[in-house]
Amino acid sequence: MKGVSVIVLEEDPAIGDPVHCAGLISVKTIDLAQDLGVPDDAIESTILREIRGAVIHSPSGRTFSMRKDDVHAVVIDRARFDSVIAEAAERAGATYALSSKVTDIRRVEDGFDLQCSTRDGLRTDVKARRLVGADGFRSTVAAKLDLGVPRSILPALQTVVEDWQGEPDMVHVVLDPDIAEGFFAWVVPEKVGARIGLASTGGRLNERLDRVVSNLSELDLTSGKSTGYQGGGIPIGPADRTADEGVLTVGDAAGQVKPVSGGGIFPGLECANIAADQILRSLEDDDPLIVNDYEQAWRERWGKELNLGYHIRMGYTHLNSKKVEKLAEVLSREKLIPVFEECGDMDYPSKLIRPLFRKAPGLIGFAGPLLKGIFRSRFGIDK
Ligand SMILES: Cc1cc2nc3c(=O)[nH]c(=O)nc-3n(C[C@H](O)[C@H](O)[C@H](O)COP(=O)(O)OP(=O)(O)OC[C@H]3O[C@@H](n4cnc5c(N)ncnc54)[C@H](O)[C@@H]3O)c2cc1C
Repeated sequence: MKGVSVIVLEEDPAIGDPVHCAGLISVKTIDLAQDLGVPDDAIESTILREIRGAVIHSPSGRTFSMRKDDVHAVVIDRARFDSVIAEAAERAGATYALSSKVTDIRRVEDGFDLQCSTRDGLRTDVKARRLVGADGFRSTVAAKLDLGVPRSILPALQTVVEDWQGEPDMVHVVLDPDIAEGFFAWVVPEKVGARIGLASTGGRLNERLDRVVSNLSELDLTSGKSTGYQGGGIPIGPADRTADEGVLTVGDAAGQVKPVSGGGIFPGLECANIAADQILRSLEDDDPLIVNDYEQAWRERWGKELNLGYHIRMGYTHLNSKKVEKLAEVLSREKLIPVFEECGDMDYPSKLIRPLFRKAPGLIGFAGPLLKGIFRSRFGIDK
């Protein structure tokens, strides 16, 4: 940031490691990273695969595909993606302090005192005039300074299977409430093999993931040799309070994640950019209260989409396997596939709703809970 001294305190010893991410992002996210100052060759070096479409699996194992000629999504090496962003930030003047866990934060007259501990048990203190909590869904910043937290956290688990033989430019989405309760399972092709994962309520994620892997083996997954598990949590529903005098939260800490897909990289990056503007303005005017404007600024950009997504997902959690089967059957009808192909935008799933209902009014008949969620969102009934 122009003329401002920035320190990033990261508890892990390496940027981007461990990875808790399937690494599927829109091409728009790559463009955004470039606009934010990451060099083209650096960001492009993170791309492992170009994705043209998705295969949807119903609970009974029926499948249908939607595909575009152009590339709208890519699979990235997430650890490298985080590293090239950090390198760009360092070139712009930021300092990274790795192995530095923030353990306590106190508000003081002209900012914040942060207590950090290193891996060897050493303690350092850092003083900051402004503070950004980009510290994930278990945000210490939010907890210590009384900011809001995401409405819920959905447990997720993923494994990398080396011998995936599916099409390299298609992802798979498995809709089956008996396996992935309230969400879905996914297959995202890697350079070699694929990332197979799921998010689900109801516990026993290992067993659920094993079921996904063995069910999909009919789809060319031969021996299912896997490289261990990556766990994590997906924040669902934005936090109700993400800024206060001199401090704000961003990304997973603020629940800035698309509740329908679990994608947090694009909204997180956009909101980080908005956050940087507000912090800079507040420093230029020497007024920490200006940071509070971030609340409205990011919600103008993302609030409606995240709230609508939240209610759609809540509606989906009320569908049993039979209803999801029926929903998949309607969505797979020939006349709807072009709607997905034309209007589908992984960053704004809500863009699909109107055209889908226009083409298939019959959706209303059995998707009551989904509609209820949408109406609640439209009429501002938030919880
Ligand atoms: C299984 C899974 C798959 C996903 N797949 C996708 C996907 O395909 N596409 C997509 O867009 N999104 C995906 N997401 C969501 C995406 O990974 C997150 O939204 C994104 O990583 C959020 O970034 P963040 O920087 O806000 O938080 P995080 O990535 O959680 O980063 C927070 C950082 O803060 C550090 N930290 C935390 N507490 C402290 C502390 N006290 N002191 C110092 N450092 C601290 C952590 O070590 C971490 O490095 C997925 C999530 C999961 C769990």
